[in-house]
Amino acid sequence: MGTLLQSSPSAFGTDAKRPEPAPPAVAGVTGSGPDDFGATRTDGTAFKGDVMSLNTAPASRMAAAAPPQGEGWKLSGATKLPPTGYTIKFYDQKSVDWLGRYVKASAADLRRVTNLSVTVDTTPVGWDYVRPKGEVVIGVLKGPCVPPSGGNTGWKVVRDGSGTANLSCGFYASSVPSTVTSGHAYIDSEFFTADGKPSASRGETYTRNHISHELGHTLSLDHANRSATPGDCVKGSDSGQQPVMCTPAYAYQDKRAGTYVQQFDMQGLRHLAKGGGAALPPQGRVTGLAGKCLDVKGGKTVNGTQIQLWTVPK
Ligand SMILES: [Zn+2]
Repeated sequence: MGTLLQSSPSAFGTDAKRPEPAPPAVAGVTGSGPDDFGATRTDGTAFKGDVMSLNTAPASRMAAAAPPQGEGWKLSGATKLPPTGYTIKFYDQKSVDWLGRYVKASAADLRRVTNLSVTVDTTPVGWDYVRPKGEVVIGVLKGPCVPPSGGNTGWKVVRDGSGTANLSCGFYASSVPSTVTSGHAYIDSEFFTADGKPSASRGETYTRNHISHELGHTLSLDHANRSATPGDCVKGSDSGQQPVMCTPAYAYQDKRAGTYVQQFDMQGLRHLAKGGGAALPPQGRVTGLAGKCLDVKGGKTVNGTQIQLWTVPK
């Protein structure tokens, strides 16, 4: 028998009545600049000195077939998350201190959405860490991301601050065909104050969405933009929000900031989790305390379904 896991009023779109703050005027995590994501075929990409070179694209990226996508979501290559889930780790203590609470919040949301084990381990692994399968590693650095001159292959991550200003980046590895086997992300410290608080121009809402956005890239989520125009993304019907994976990152601009947008990002994450064999509860129906299901009004279960309720496996 199931019980309600998520039943807060916000899940039902009541925040739509609130005045919605405008997205912060940000030149862009990515914006009109370079993309902020890529992929490799191997898991153990590591720093050699101050530089990590990401040279090989996974076979899935080179496949002729376009990766799956839907309204407001798009995969960048791999189509499956490992059914065993994954653990998110941090490079150093500063990364734990600055990013920890955002990463934990994103991980909790990823657990909710995918039904997979997504754990957070706050013991720093060190910058020389060789990442194994089943892990996502994240760190904060000044100017860490060096995009390739063209395409998404040939990224570098640097530790000497010489990367593109105001650019964070996230990558997934696919050492098993079609599967996200590990990932890593680098958050530009320029988005924070010297003592690790969100900078005044970004703020808390932006920062939550920013971390969820980069973690989305570590799971093979692509940008959800409809065109090359920055911010040109579909808008949701429950409060006008755009996908977390829109660039620049808009997402929820209210207390739900940092959670994956139900109509959009969540659909991509569910596709990835299902691809790996995860058992996901159906959407668009309520499992009440008596175990009875209530259909969503109008039977809408595909796009625009506004009620998201989960049954808890015992
Ligand atoms: Zn991005």
